[in-house]
Amino acid sequence: MVQSKLLNKFKGLEHYFFDRTDDHGKISRQSVCCEQVHGNKVLIISKKDSFIKSIDGMITDKPLSLAIRTADCLPVFFFAKKKNLAAAVHAGWKGIISGVLENTVWQFKKLAVSPNDLTVAIGPHIRDCCYDVGLERQKMFTDRFKKVDNITVSRLGKIYLNLEKAAQKALTDCGILLGNLDIMPICTGCDRRFYSFRREGKGSGRNLSVIRIL
Ligand SMILES: [Zn+2]
Repeated sequence: MVQSKLLNKFKGLEHYFFDRTDDHGKISRQSVCCEQVHGNKVLIISKKDSFIKSIDGMITDKPLSLAIRTADCLPVFFFAKKKNLAAAVHAGWKGIISGVLENTVWQFKKLAVSPNDLTVAIGPHIRDCCYDVGLERQKMFTDRFKKVDNITVSRLGKIYLNLEKAAQKALTDCGILLGNLDIMPICTGCDRRFYSFRREGKGSGRNLSVIRIL
């Protein structure tokens, strides 16, 4: 299990990016999960519901454990200290392109949270050391994130995509301050503590990430 130093500064919050060595059965059973359809829908959750269909992000002001499962995609946590609201979001390449991060910030705005009051942590995910992509996906990202240097790089005839640079750009463009953004430099493709779809294929397990307001 790893944690974000930025989020750990807040006393009223707990969060965990679990790995395969953790026994998280109990916390998993007590959590609110969503279907995670690689879309961009984010909902405000106010009661314990074990499974919410057709969304990729959840926001709450209740003491509910919000859980995201990933194996290479980005688990993203948001915390609004002043309003005591937390969010858990699943953001893979499709979610990033379709605006799941922007939609999360938008939902916070509807709850009267200014983007510069948000702290964001991105947990272990596949990094550009391991994430080679085809030409079509490269073009989607170079078109969408034109001004980001090295959003993709070429090495030994392959193209590697940097999802965290894309996520950072999407978030800072909506007003998240760089100093309030913690991107954990752990690659699920390299670090065998974590499940990785790329490394382990279809049979890969999922890394559980949980955030909860106390
Ligand atoms: Zn790697």
